[in-house]
Amino acid sequence: MFLSSRQCWAGFAGGLLLMAMLTGTAVAAVPASDDSAQLLKQADSVKTSNHAEFLQLISRLAGTAAKLSPSQRMYLHFLQAWEVCYQGDYEAATPLLNAIIAEPTDAILRFRAGLTLVNTLVIGSHYEDAFARMRQLLDQLPQIVDKDARIQALGVAGTLYNEAGQYDLGLNYANKMLRENPDGRGDCKGRFLRVQSIYESGKFSTFEKESSEGIDACNKASDFLFGNLIRAYVAGSDIQHGQSAAAIKLLQKNYADVQHIGYPELTSQFDASLAQAYWNEGEIALAQQYAHAAVDGGVKHEFTKSQTSAYELLYLIAKKQGDLDAALSYHEKYMAADKGYLNEVSAKALAYQAVEQQVQAKKLQIDTLNKQNEILQLQQKLAKKAAVASRLYIALLVLVLASIALWTYKIKRSQLRFMKLARRDGLTGIFNRQHFLNEAGLQLQYCRKSSRGACLVLIDLDHFKTVNDTHGHAVGDRVLQRAVEACKAHLRSTDIFGRLGGEEFGILLPEYTLEQVLGRAEQIRLAIATAAAGEDAPGIPVSASFGVSSVVHSGYELRQLLIHADEALYRAKREGRNRVSASCSETREAYAQAG
Ligand code: GH3
Ligand code: MG
Ligand code: MG
Repeated sequence: MFLSSRQCWAGFAGGLLLMAMLTGTAVAAVPASDDSAQLLKQADSVKTSNHAEFLQLISRLAGTAAKLSPSQRMYLHFLQAWEVCYQGDYEAATPLLNAIIAEPTDAILRFRAGLTLVNTLVIGSHYEDAFARMRQLLDQLPQIVDKDARIQALGVAGTLYNEAGQYDLGLNYANKMLRENPDGRGDCKGRFLRVQSIYESGKFSTFEKESSEGIDACNKASDFLFGNLIRAYVAGSDIQHGQSAAAIKLLQKNYADVQHIGYPELTSQFDASLAQAYWNEGEIALAQQYAHAAVDGGVKHEFTKSQTSAYELLYLIAKKQGDLDAALSYHEKYMAADKGYLNEVSAKALAYQAVEQQVQAKKLQIDTLNKQNEILQLQQKLAKKAAVASRLYIALLVLVLASIALWTYKIKRSQLRFMKLARRDGLTGIFNRQHFLNEAGLQLQYCRKSSRGACLVLIDLDHFKTVNDTHGHAVGDRVLQRAVEACKAHLRSTDIFGRLGGEEFGILLPEYTLEQVLGRAEQIRLAIATAAAGEDAPGIPVSASFGVSSVVHSGYELRQLLIHADEALYRAKREGRNRVSASCSETREAYAQAG
């Protein structure tokens, strides 16, 4: 059903092209008009039915191309490319159609140009490109809403796959084409494709019904070419099923019509089938006559099934007649035709398989890429989760460290507080007895090592019991605090001051001479006398007695200094209180110096 571009029938460049050009382009005939859009549609509608008018219209439109809109100009280019293709010039048609396909304008026009390109590729024997292009167009088909374009595409696909021996696929597209409810001619062609698929795949169970309905549909559409192509399959089936007489009857009845149509593929099929049927019936002369007709009137420069079977018959006839030279010659032609035909068929089948494998490989590649992508996305998700987890760990660690730091700080603080509490007197805040003794002992050691002087002063408030008894213990406490404040005002930071118990206090004054200390003790005594009572105990005379000892007389031992200072204090009490007294020998020295 295929003719090459070199083989033209009534100006057609091939069966497939015929199918594509006639099917789906059944644009309704439009009355002649000056309007460019209408002229374009009219040209499209008459391009096969009235080719002369078509040529006239496109040349008229080409003359006014400047006035056309860009999409109208593209439409005209498509019709011009179609004409080049129609003339069988594959080389020239291909770039023209590709240019239209590359334009980002009318999607339907580009789709139709793609279909025409499939035809030109087949004509040019570029089967692989044709199948690849067909796959692309079929992928686009779901988006194509134009009914004619859809029918045209399905018709081209059905024809192409039948040509490649993929009859199930061919049948599938023929059925799809028929489901689109094409008009009469489309219906006839769809049914022809279906009969072709069934016949070629040897599924004869529905063949009779399908072929008879197909012939009816083609008669109704006055499409005698496709009607008779179906009849050729019916005759072929009859011959295969031992009904050669019925085949002869059918073929002869329509023989004149077929001759009139003049389509070489069809006439040679009729002739070859008649030759086979007459051979089967023992009518050797008639068989020979039609076999010659099939060979002579068939498609030129191309190998067909009809030609092959006709040469085989001519060989058998010559052999039977004992003409061995002729038999040999026909056998050689038969072999060449058979080989050529099979080569042609296998070239298409191979091209189909190659494209399918490429498509599968591409699909596999895409699947692999998708899988790789999924893995990458999973890895990214995992990395994100890991990052979140590490952030959590870090936050947890920081929290733990902060807790430890806080805990350590609190322990340290309470340790310090306890240390302070352990060293300080709770009421007055100065050193307690034990800490005073420790600090004073240490200080005396430094003084001894550096040969510096130091004095110890003991203070005891006078008649303090009376304060408590008269004003209460709380007032007594405040008097004690004031007395301490009064002392502090006259002390240096290097002096060591502590509460030794009750209302007794001790002061170690390093680097002072006895004279200096007596003076300082005197100041403190006056300060206590003025400030200690304060407003809490008005009218209460508060005073203190002082006992002073010095390292010069007592040595650097604290114990000895305490004894001597205590003796001095006792003496101060005895002598009437509210006074400062130095230990005996020092008093003499001190007073001697003072005097
Ligand atoms: P003297 O002049 O002889 O020292 O007479 P005094 O009353 O001060 O002597 P005494 O040692 O007999 O009395 C000390 C008093 O100090 C007894 C006690 O009630 C009081 N005292 C001791 N410690 C505190 C204290 O912490 N607070 C108060 N309010 N009174 C205290
Ligand atoms: Mg006392
Ligand atoms: Mg006292």
